[in-house]
Amino acid sequence: MALIVQKFGGSSVANTERLRRVAERVVRTRRAGNQVVVVVSAQGDTTDDLIRKAKELTPNPPRREMDMLLATGEQVSIALLAIAIDCLGEPVVSLTGAQGGIYTDNVHTKARITRVSADRVLRELGAGKIVIVAGFQGITVSGEDYEITTLGRGGSDTTAVALAAALKADMCEIYTDVTGVFTADPRIVPNARKLAAISYGEMLEMASLGAVVLQPRAVEFAAVYGVPIHVRSSFSDEPGTIVKELTVMDTGEKEVVVTGVTHDTNVAKVVLVGVPDRPGVAARIFGALAAERINVDMIVQTTKEEKSTDLLFTISRDDLARASQVVRKVAQELGAKDVLEDQTVAKVSIVGAGMMMNPGVAAAMFEALAECGINIQVISTSEIKVSCLIDESRVVEAVRAIHRRFLEDTLSPADEGQTRTAGEAEVNAGAGSGNSGTGMISRAG
Ligand code: ADP
Ligand code: ASP
Ligand code: MG
Repeated sequence: MALIVQKFGGSSVANTERLRRVAERVVRTRRAGNQVVVVVSAQGDTTDDLIRKAKELTPNPPRREMDMLLATGEQVSIALLAIAIDCLGEPVVSLTGAQGGIYTDNVHTKARITRVSADRVLRELGAGKIVIVAGFQGITVSGEDYEITTLGRGGSDTTAVALAAALKADMCEIYTDVTGVFTADPRIVPNARKLAAISYGEMLEMASLGAVVLQPRAVEFAAVYGVPIHVRSSFSDEPGTIVKELTVMDTGEKEVVVTGVTHDTNVAKVVLVGVPDRPGVAARIFGALAAERINVDMIVQTTKEEKSTDLLFTISRDDLARASQVVRKVAQELGAKDVLEDQTVAKVSIVGAGMMMNPGVAAAMFEALAECGINIQVISTSEIKVSCLIDESRVVEAVRAIHRRFLEDTLSPADEGQTRTAGEAEVNAGAGSGNSGTGMISRAG
């Protein structure tokens, strides 16, 4: 008897008809002789709607209360799905994150799972029931007033993988509204191809760079505990994408330079203009942001005048309201000239383990953008990715052009890139981002 964790995303449980279909699939899996643990998200756009309601009151609502609010979405889904399964005559129980033993730290709205205590789930499974656990939510460990927490957008994926790890499940199936992981978001690149398999490392990079099909933290958990993930459609039975440790057996001799193209529009750019050029300044600014648990992504420092620099960085747009308060305070203390904020930027990236051995890949990407007349504001690289910050209005065009260049053309992108220049680029002294081993380049001029 296998133990299978099945996670259904918001669109898969959006209405009564879809809930019934999910219930049927779960019951089918159970009747095939498997133990089944189900994780569900809030229905349809529920989470977005709840966030909007809070923001109608204030742009920066208290994070604890946001958790109280957002956790309700998943609680509706678990109960409705349990009712639907009960109608099919199968024993079932729904559990909140707390009842399911999902313990987290106390960072409201971006909590991390610190422990999964699976006793209750195991007991219910032992009693022959299908167990449904609310995704996205957890509870702080005892001694901290049992606060309800949420795991950040897309957090139900992480609940599912963490439970699968704790239960030593045979498979964690992520059911969603696309048939698997594609070479780019299939909603914007019609020619994107479904990948039969992808390594944890590349999937982690793609997820971190905007491929929302899996939450990055879920992939991290899966990699650490060796949980195989099957990303597939809840609307069909076709096989999806397996995320696992890939071996030469899987990849064969064929070298793939670029595995996927991703984009992220949840990006905001902040520029501190005219900050004093002396030791400790970057530490002050980024220390203050870190204290607020705000992740900084790209960082570039440029020097225009003597003794004064401009410091540019990007963060998630969701964090901008809070970051703005923090940065403006520090900027004033440091005597900076101005703070500029820009919410019209986006990040496009290429990901691929084959990139390490292929010089010229980055150049080919810059060239694809140049051919469309798309200006690159900031570049960052690591061994298996290259990211460019561009104007948000050009993002679809950019992703399509880059996809065409690397994943549709027969011409070898590496060879192409080497024969042409990508324009002037100057390596800047980045102040060091959260991503270790990341190189920063800003366009000269
Ligand atoms: P769910 O509600 O099921 O969790 P999400 O909206 O979080 O679904 O994730 C699925 C979406 O991820 C797809 O609809 C698709 O638009 C988007 N997506 C982005 N990049 C990719 C990719 N490379 N492969 C597949 N889907 C992607
Ligand atoms: N409902 C949450 C969200 O919309 C969690 C999830 O769907 O995974 O982000
Ligand atoms: Mg999701």
